[in-house]
This record gives sequence, structure tokens and C-alpha cells, in this order.
Amino acid sequence: MKICFNEATTLKNSNLEKDLELCEKYGYDLIEIRLDKLREYLQDHKVEDLYNFFQTHRIKPYAFNALEFITFRNNEDYEELKKDLDFLCKIGTEINCSKIVVVPSFDVGDFTRKQIKEESVRVLNDLADIAENYGMELAFEFVGYPNCSVNTLDQAYEIVTEVGRSNVGLVIDCFHFHAMNSKLEDLKKVDPKKIFIFHIDDCEDIPPGMLRDNHRLLPGDGVIKLDSILKVLKEIGYDEMVSVELFRPEYWKWDAEKLIKVAKEKTELVVKKYFDF
Ligand code: ZN
Repeated sequence: MKICFNEATTLKNSNLEKDLELCEKYGYDLIEIRLDKLREYLQDHKVEDLYNFFQTHRIKPYAFNALEFITFRNNEDYEELKKDLDFLCKIGTEINCSKIVVVPSFDVGDFTRKQIKEESVRVLNDLADIAENYGMELAFEFVGYPNCSVNTLDQAYEIVTEVGRSNVGLVIDCFHFHAMNSKLEDLKKVDPKKIFIFHIDDCEDIPPGMLRDNHRLLPGDGVIKLDSILKVLKEIGYDEMVSVELFRPEYWKWDAEKLIKVAKEKTELVVKKYFDF
């Protein structure tokens, strides 16, 4: 299992350059690059600088986060989304980062599950056509908020299965899995090859439907049954990567170095019971 750092963890207390240096220092294998931090980095760097960094360091890029609100968009917004996709695909091919996280829309109105599925399948196919030209892959991330149009694993997996393309898979995020009561039985049915990204985190003991990203905690510090999730992942044969992704404002007040160090230690402590690194 490779250990990855998701840049949301240090959203407000670091930037891409600093995340890269610190993650290399503390021995992360991979990094998920955030679109906003990438744009900021490119204000005074070239894509070539990023390529050179990865060429000369151990850490490698794994995915970009994220294209959000991909479904139920008006034409104008959808064109903007496709521009962002194109931008990430181009940079992805240059720096050998082949995955992009894509997130379903929120507050879409009274659509049925069937209608949401049709719209999600349609959009994922359309975006996957573009990504395919660059050899890029899309990782669809359900969000465990009541107002997200796709908020459980079974719903997301049904959509990804219907799309049925090799370059479209899932993000499974422990927080989102827990936050809307996704089921372990559903995780057991997932083809491990369809899990493109696995996000690890933990959270406070707040009832389902009321949990938000700011309630996330370091792995092992909260109430998510991480052991059960990891056990099932091992059973189904998933052992690719685990990415620590926290969005807790309290942690953004920490020194970034301390957070990056502790996040890796805590992740390893939880994961090592089931996987080798
Ligand atoms: Zn996530």
C-alpha cells in the first residue's frame, strides 16, 4: 500500500511547493494535487518545474482534486468545466499524473435516483471521452452530505458500473462512506480495480446527515470504523494506495510540517494492521 498526501489537509497553511518538500521529507510515496494550489503554483513556476521536481524526488503525483459540480450544469458552466478538465489533462500528461477526481453536484432539486443516474452517466461519459484522448482517468467521488446528488457508495458504484469504461472509477472516502451510512456489504461487492483512489480520515461523533468536512479528524482519532473498512478492502484485494485527506480548520492553524508528519504517522498506525507499505 502506498501512502499519499491530499493537499486539502494543509489547505490554508501551506502551498504546493511547501507540501511537496515536506511530503518528500516525511516519506510519502504520492501526492494528490489540488487545482487551486496548482493554479497558485503556476503563477511563478512552469509546469516543467513540477515535472523536474518529480523527476528528481521520490514522491510522485497521483491525482488532481477536483472538478466539482459536474452534473446538472448550464451550458456556460459546463463549458468552463470542460476547460478545467482540458487544463488538468494537459498538465497530467506532462507530469505523469493520470487521475482526476470528479464530484457530483449538490442541491440539484427534486430529481429521482434514476434521473440522477442518467445525468451522472451522461456527464461521466462525455468527460471520459475528453480524458481518454489524453490517457487520463476520472475518479468519481460521492459526498456523504444529504444534499449531494450522489451520497452513498451503492449509488456511486451503480453509476460507475453503468458507465462501464476503463478510465472511470471511484473514490472511496472513509468520511463520506461513514457520513451517510454507506454499507460494508456494498463495499464487499466493489471490484477493487474500480477503486481509483482511497481517502482516509476520521471524524467526530455527530449523527449522519449532520457531518461536514470540518468535523474530520486525523485517522484513529474519531469514530469511523476504519478497521472494518480496511478489512473489507483487504478481503476484496485492494492494496493500491491510501491518501490522507482532512479539511479541518483547526489543523490549518497548525504548523504545516507538524501536520504532514502527524498525518502520516497516524495513517500508518491505522493502516499497518492490514497492509504492508
Ligand atoms: Zn475525499
